[in-house]
Amino acid sequence: MKPAQFAYVAPASVPEAVAVLAERGPESRVLAGGQSLLIELRHRTARPALLVDVNRVPGLSEIAVEDGSVHVGALVRHAQLEHARFDDSLAELFRQVAPYVAHPPIRARGTFAGSLAWAHPASEWCALAMAMGAGIEVAGPAGGRTVPADAWFRGAFATACLPEELVTGVRLPRPPAGAVAAFAELRRTHGSFALAAALVMLRLSGGRVDWVRIGLANAADVPLRAVEAERLMTGELPEPELLAETAVRAAAETDPPDEPHAPAAYRRHALATLVRRCLTRAVQKATAGSP
Ligand SMILES: Cc1cc2nc3c(=O)[nH]c(=O)nc-3n(C[C@H](O)[C@H](O)[C@H](O)COP(=O)(O)OP(=O)(O)OC[C@H]3O[C@@H](n4cnc5c(N)ncnc54)[C@H](O)[C@@H]3O)c2cc1C
Repeated sequence: MKPAQFAYVAPASVPEAVAVLAERGPESRVLAGGQSLLIELRHRTARPALLVDVNRVPGLSEIAVEDGSVHVGALVRHAQLEHARFDDSLAELFRQVAPYVAHPPIRARGTFAGSLAWAHPASEWCALAMAMGAGIEVAGPAGGRTVPADAWFRGAFATACLPEELVTGVRLPRPPAGAVAAFAELRRTHGSFALAAALVMLRLSGGRVDWVRIGLANAADVPLRAVEAERLMTGELPEPELLAETAVRAAAETDPPDEPHAPAAYRRHALATLVRRCLTRAVQKATAGSP
C-alpha cells in the first residue's frame, strides 16, 4: 500500500525542529532513519499530516566519549555503533549487539535513538539502554530534559516522549574499567527480530563479581534489567552453579508475551539459557583478562 498523503518539512536545527513540533506535534511524526516509520506509513498504521525530517540537523551524528559517559547523538546509525572503535567495554558491547539489529542496509540508515523512540519490546538497543542506565535527552518547547531509561519505556511502542518533543541524544554511563561484555540472541532467521535476547556486562575483582548488569529483550512489553539476578551474584565467586541460579532468577523477573510460535514458558526458558551463556562467556573473558 502507498502511504496516505502527508506534508514534509526538513528543519535545519534543533530549535527549528522543536518550533515545528510545538505547533504541530500531535499531528506529526519525526523522521530519523525511517526504517520503522516508513513501514508504518505504508501499512497506514500511522497517518501523520506532517513528517519532520531531522536528517539535515547538524551536530546529531556523533558518538562523543567523555570522562564518565558516552553520548550517542540522535542521528547515530546502527552501523556506526557496529564499527565503534573507542577504547571502552561499551564499544565492545555495541559491536557485539549491532550485527543482530536487522540487515546491513537497515543498519546503515536506522538510528540508535530512533530505536529507543520506537520502543519495540524486542529491540536490542532498548535492552542495552535499560541495562546500562542510559539517559534519553529530549528537547521541547519548555527546554531540555533527560529521562532515565527506566522511566522512558512505558509499554510496547510507548515512551515518555511527548508529541512536541525531539530526542536529541542518549547518554550512557561508562562501565567501570575492566568490565567485559557478552550478548546472545535467539531468532528464527538471520535479520529477524529477537524471540529473546540477553546481554551481560560484568567485572571481577579478587575473583568475585563486583559489578554486573543484565539486560533482556522481548522478556516483557518493555526492556528489562534483571536487578534481582544482579543482586544475587554481586560479591560472590562466579561458580557455574551461581551462574545457573542467576540465570534462572533473571528469567523469573520476566513477563514474556505468550504467542503460538513462542509461548511464554518457552521464552522464559530461552532467556535463562541466554543469560547463562552470556554470564559464562563474560566470566571466561574476565578471568582471561580479555577486554
Ligand atoms: C526488516 C527489518 C528488520 C528489523 N530488525 C530489527 C531488529 O532485529 N532489532 C531492532 O531493534 N530493530 C529492528 N528493526 C528496526 C530498525 O532498527 C529501525 O531502524 C529502528 O527501530 C528505528 O530507527 P529509525 O532511525 O529508523 O527510526 P524511524 O523509523 O525514523 O522512526 C521510528 C519512530 O521513532 C520516532 N523517532 C525517531 N527518531 C526520533 C527522534 N529523534 N525524536 C523523536 N522521535 C523519534 C519516529 O517518529 C517514529 O515514531 C528492523 C527493521 C526492519 C525494516
